[in-house]
Amino acid sequence: MAMAQTAESIGANVFQFFTRNPRGGAAKPLDHADVERFLAFAAERGIGPILAHAPYTLNAAGAEDRVREFAEATMLDDLKRLEFTPGAMYNFHPGSHVGQGAEKGIELISSMLVRIASRFSKKPSTTVLLETMAGKGSEVGGKFEEVRETIDRVESAAPDALALGVCLDTCHVWDAGYDIAGDLDGVLARFDEVIGLGRLKAIHLNDSMNALGAHKDRHEKLGKGRIGLDALMRVVNHPKLSALPFYLETPCDLQGYRDEIALVKSCYKQ
Ligand code: FE
Ligand code: FE
Ligand code: ZN
Repeated sequence: MAMAQTAESIGANVFQFFTRNPRGGAAKPLDHADVERFLAFAAERGIGPILAHAPYTLNAAGAEDRVREFAEATMLDDLKRLEFTPGAMYNFHPGSHVGQGAEKGIELISSMLVRIASRFSKKPSTTVLLETMAGKGSEVGGKFEEVRETIDRVESAAPDALALGVCLDTCHVWDAGYDIAGDLDGVLARFDEVIGLGRLKAIHLNDSMNALGAHKDRHEKLGKGRIGLDALMRVVNHPKLSALPFYLETPCDLQGYRDEIALVKSCYKQ
């Protein structure tokens, strides 16, 4: 509830939150009265869809059993909890294959999702989003093809067991080498060809500290980085994207976010 009030106080109509400490660990027990208050407030004020973010430490493609088991148990717990806020979205970093190869990583990630889906008696109401990654180190998901293959594998092994989508992070795709500043239409055409724009459910709107294709993943404030404000506003206003929910992950404090939201709104052409 407090998160929704904070979001509204800075002019937001959506927000993203961590399901637990971003570096992992146990989640706080759900306060059901608070969940009820949140649902009523969100419905009344038109807030949503909310986007839950899995901890960064979650690595479904890890080499050690312990790492993969933690990822699976955490995601399962998160998705069970999210059933109390129906219709939410849950974003996760597909994982790092740590030298096992992207193919092996994709196999581990997709088989985890299949097992998680099998633990629900009916299809979860939450849409699970794979985030496009910068391709830092051995990250899986820096190429659209890897995202597509992961989704395909889950859906062929467990048809209609889990709603799967994609969250496009502007900093990550830029760092991965997709030139959204110079050729946004081309990148979106590529996304459509490989994954399908129908899968795109959310945008993480960030500038990047690094150059195109740097594979670094360092977020910057809007307009202060290498993507630039004009390019980011073309993302916000692109007819294929403008109806999507946008979430800021820039290095800002609350006042900074209030300013960025006002900036985006002032550039938004509807
Ligand atoms: Fe993320
Ligand atoms: Fe992101
Ligand atoms: Zn990032």
